[in-house]
Amino acid sequence: MQIIEVDHPLKEHYLSILRDKNTTSENFRIYAEKLSFILLLEGSKNITLKEKRIETPLTETTGYEIENDIVAVAVLRAGLGLVDGIKNLIPSTAIGYIGVQRNEETANPEYYYENLPDLKNKNVFILEPMLATGGSLAFAIEKIKEFNPKNIIALTVICAPEGLERIKKDHPEITLVTAKIDQNLNENWYIVPGLGDMGDRLFGTT
Ligand code: URA
Repeated sequence: MQIIEVDHPLKEHYLSILRDKNTTSENFRIYAEKLSFILLLEGSKNITLKEKRIETPLTETTGYEIENDIVAVAVLRAGLGLVDGIKNLIPSTAIGYIGVQRNEETANPEYYYENLPDLKNKNVFILEPMLATGGSLAFAIEKIKEFNPKNIIALTVICAPEGLERIKKDHPEITLVTAKIDQNLNENWYIVPGLGDMGDRLFGTT
C-alpha cells in the first residue's frame, strides 16, 4: 500500500486548528475543507490525463483533461467534512455515500446506508477522515471494489497505526493519503492525540 503523509506547513497549521478543542464547529468546517484541498492535491498526483486540442484566443495548442472521471465516496458522517473541498477543486466530481457506524461497545463497523454513482473505471476517492481501527474504511473499500474502479485512493485526516496496519493487510493495492499518523488508540478507540469525534466537531453534536 502506498501511504502518503502530507508534508506541508499549511497542513500543520490547518490540522492544529482542527485538533484544538476550543475551535468552533464553524471554524472546524472551514478548516476541514481547506485541509481537504491539500489531501486531494496529494492524492491526485498520479491520476492520468489525456491530450486534447484546444484553441486559445491566439492559436491552437495541446491541452489536457482527466482521463478517468473522479468520484468521491464519503463515509458518513465525518466524511461529509471533506466533500465541499473536493467539489470546489473538481466540480464535475460525482459524490456517493456509504453509511458505516462504529458500534461503541465492540468498535466493529455496522453498515446502514449506501448511495453510489457509477464507479466502473473511475478514480475513486474515499473520504474517511479518522482512521481508527480501520474497520469502516476496510468495509467501504470492499464495497467499492465490487464495482471495478480504476483506482482507490483513501483521503484521511488522522490515522492510528492500528488502522493503517489493518488496511495494509486487507487492501494492499490502494493509496492512502493522510495529514498525520498519530500515536495510538485509547481504550474507547479514539485516536490520541487526535481531534476527538470528527462528526460531532463538524456538526456541533455531542
Ligand atoms: N472517529 C473519530 O471521529 N475520532 C476518533 O478519534 C476515532 C474515530
